[in-house]
Amino acid sequence: MYRPVPHRAPADGDVESLRRGWSPPNPNEEVAMLRTNVADGIHCVEDSYVNWFIVEDDSGLTVVDAGLPTSWESLLQALSELDRRLRDIKALLLTHGHFDHLGFAERLRSHVGVPVYIHDNDIPLTRHPRQYGRDRPLTWYLLTQFKALPMVAEFAKNRAWWPRPVEQVHRIRETTLSVPGAPRVLFTPGHTLGHCAFHFPERDTVVAGDAVVTLDPYRGTRRPQIVSRAATVDPERALRSLDVLADTGARTVLTGHGAAWTEGVERLVESALQHGSS
Ligand SMILES: [Zn+2]
Ligand SMILES: [Zn+2]
Repeated sequence: MYRPVPHRAPADGDVESLRRGWSPPNPNEEVAMLRTNVADGIHCVEDSYVNWFIVEDDSGLTVVDAGLPTSWESLLQALSELDRRLRDIKALLLTHGHFDHLGFAERLRSHVGVPVYIHDNDIPLTRHPRQYGRDRPLTWYLLTQFKALPMVAEFAKNRAWWPRPVEQVHRIRETTLSVPGAPRVLFTPGHTLGHCAFHFPERDTVVAGDAVVTLDPYRGTRRPQIVSRAATVDPERALRSLDVLADTGARTVLTGHGAAWTEGVERLVESALQHGSS
């Protein structure tokens, strides 16, 4: 049985009122869950509304995104459930450099020697995880969006969440990476300037990161959409990048936030385009 990983609850009264404004999922329920085979040989770990993935093949494991700093414990538990070891991990791919996806990256790199892959344009974010471009100030969302998830308030106020900067990265230059699962790189800028999704053609699956999500952590809305302007540097470009995802024709889309989508990428993209930016 997979045990939830507890982490610090915010102490601030304002944070509590934000928590009360949000209904499901239950904010008092700390979420850390391993779902095996959300796609063929791809496992999802969800830590407090943030998803990251473990991809298996005969040569080992590729991890896509690194969650929050507390996700390190989730990683160890997930490996144990999968009967794998840290040394089975051959690569960590980062879809982008936002702090909620960098969690254990530096720890995995420095302790285990796993290479960390990311696009050139997002390298500055890995060095300075607290700085990122956005089209609308975060405070606007905190003041007006009462459905905002508790994680938003925690991002803003709980410094314990900030990950360690990643000291060395491998710049993604290839179109297909020689790592377990052999993903094709899909350059999908907009959410960040260097955002990449990863297509696993043999598994009919795209790991989309935050190029498209089924839960917007800044609004608390569950539907196909791009992430709100609180955390998206160029929404127009993010909407254009959806074509790159649609071109794969993949059946399953695994997003950085929210539930897995299994009804085909075209329908997901169509729906996200209808909602536009928010
Ligand atoms: Zn992001
Ligand atoms: Zn995110």
